[in-house]
Amino acid sequence: MKSSEIRKNIEELRKEIPSGVELVAVSKFHPEEAILAAYEEGQRRFGESRVQELSKKVATLPKDIEWHFIGHLQTNKVKMLTACRPALIESVDSEHLLDAIDKESEKAGIVSQVLMQLHVAQEETKFGFTPEELIEYFREKRYEKLKATHICGVMGMASNTEDRARVCEDFRRIAATFRQIREENPDLRGFDEISMGMSGDWPAAVEEGATLIRIGTRIFGEREYK
Ligand SMILES: *Cc1c(COP(=O)(O)O)cnc(C)c1O
Repeated sequence: MKSSEIRKNIEELRKEIPSGVELVAVSKFHPEEAILAAYEEGQRRFGESRVQELSKKVATLPKDIEWHFIGHLQTNKVKMLTACRPALIESVDSEHLLDAIDKESEKAGIVSQVLMQLHVAQEETKFGFTPEELIEYFREKRYEKLKATHICGVMGMASNTEDRARVCEDFRRIAATFRQIREENPDLRGFDEISMGMSGDWPAAVEEGATLIRIGTRIFGEREYK
């Protein structure tokens, strides 16, 4: 997509997104020129889903970009990811992975900010905690053993379906799980973010309480998977 179109898409989206909701421009599979076009339009928060690709982009693109990692992360890639110093790892989908992030962060002398990924969609292939598992995790205060990781909230995806009622129901479940965790753990600090909503369904996500939305196609066009 042309730089001018990307800039126009960002500008249009900004007018539609209500204040209090932050935009993560999902730039995975898109070249650096595309990211720079959005950057020139003032966009600073970008989302990537592969560690190798993120690592390359971090090295060459402006240093004031806030990178969000949003893809499935293998434990053997955690070290390479923490070396990229992402602003937020949105896709923590198991306690095993969280512990690995905590260990590497401690070694590197940094504190990693993360979101816990919830699985509510009907697709079986999606990663994440069920609402029950995550509520249990906090109820048992297992987060207290973390030394170098701060859990800032939750991330989730709705079912990939035309059924709008189902999509809204999925977002509502993600938000309800977040609120229940907050209510049951009043000592939690900085647990504020609900990341949900993509190009096709973000207005519904915002209606249900999203604080972060992750939008790729609507900004950069279709991805070419190589
Ligand atoms: C790719 C991706 C997005 C962006 O999807 P679009 O439909 O292109 O807006 C959002 N969230 C996650 C987790 C993704 O992997």
